[in-house]
Amino acid sequence: MSCIFCRIAYGEIPARVVYQDDDVMAFHDLAPQAPVHVLVIPRQHLDSLAASKPEHDVLLGRVLATVRNVAHDLGIAENGYRAVLNTGFDGGQSVGHLHAHLLAGRPLGWPPG
Ligand code: AMP
Repeated sequence: MSCIFCRIAYGEIPARVVYQDDDVMAFHDLAPQAPVHVLVIPRQHLDSLAASKPEHDVLLGRVLATVRNVAHDLGIAENGYRAVLNTGFDGGQSVGHLHAHLLAGRPLGWPPG
């Protein structure tokens, strides 16, 4: 299995997991870009948001709801946070398994670079 996030989902590579269930997984990013930087992935491999299909909409909702729930559990919901899905080349996606970044813990600039 070559996909690094599939390998994390199957427990083949360690990760600092903050939440998991049958459908989704949330773990700390290896190279955090903010004091809180968590990734939320579907266990099922999807290349990207662009590659997802209407049949994945419930799963996409689970990814977003997990961002919300993890933000609440980590105590960052009140101050605010950013959820980002880098998608494709121009979107800056470097890992080809759909993931949402949850960033928080400092004021985040806008627009992104
Ligand atoms: P993106 O550039 O949007 O595709 O984001 C990929 C993210 O995955 C980057 O923030 C990386 O630091 C992160 N990443 C890559 N490998 C791992 C890993 N083994 N564990 C945790 N985060 C990782």
